[in-house]
Amino acid sequence: MLCRALVLWFNKHGRSYPWRDSGDPFKVLVAEMMLRRTRADQVESAYKELFGRYPDAQSLAEGNSDEVADILYPLGLKWRTPAFQEVARAIVKDYGGKVPSKRHELLKLTGVGDYVAGAVLSIGYGKKEWIVDTNIVRVFRRYFGISTSVEGRRDKRIIELAKVYARARNPRQANLAILDFAALICGAKNPRHDVCPLKRKCRYLRTDVMKISGMAEARVVRINFKGVK
Ligand code: SF4
Repeated sequence: MLCRALVLWFNKHGRSYPWRDSGDPFKVLVAEMMLRRTRADQVESAYKELFGRYPDAQSLAEGNSDEVADILYPLGLKWRTPAFQEVARAIVKDYGGKVPSKRHELLKLTGVGDYVAGAVLSIGYGKKEWIVDTNIVRVFRRYFGISTSVEGRRDKRIIELAKVYARARNPRQANLAILDFAALICGAKNPRHDVCPLKRKCRYLRTDVMKISGMAEARVVRINFKGVK
């Protein structure tokens, strides 16, 4: 239910960015490194400039560091220039210029954590691999009525949900769908319940309705993993 509804929504409202449509895991990897502290809209021009000059791992590995730093400067990432080039060099040296396609290999690259690894594998390679960030935690937490700490990204129940979710027929599309949905509909502030395709099943909304009508707040219930697909 969750995945199907989000994919349907995504087909009408999903956002398009050049790295998403590139079909190139290296471009997805670099874009995800750029997106760590910056919104996607701001990353787009730096992304185009970087790949206009350095189209692959080999050219970025050998690129002029000052020039790369200048491109990354508007994103507040100038200080991370060495990390970008280190990753490119490792891919050239250890993987023949091709981004590794296994999570444990990606995690060995400088600055690559579980989220970036999952994004490269699912968006770049189309693999059934999970991603979790704070926005995805929020959607799962609200929809299933789970209480998590601030470190929800490490919550085993959330990771399990993300793994089941990523078993979708098209994991690339499914993961992009939940990312866009979290950004455009189920935002941290002022979630747009009125236009939400999940509103009939969402526990967060139902709990709020119960509170308003004077009923006891719903208790956290068992997660229905069947509801993920
Ligand atoms: S109904 Fe509201 S809280 Fe629930 S998933 Fe939709 S936007 Fe988020």
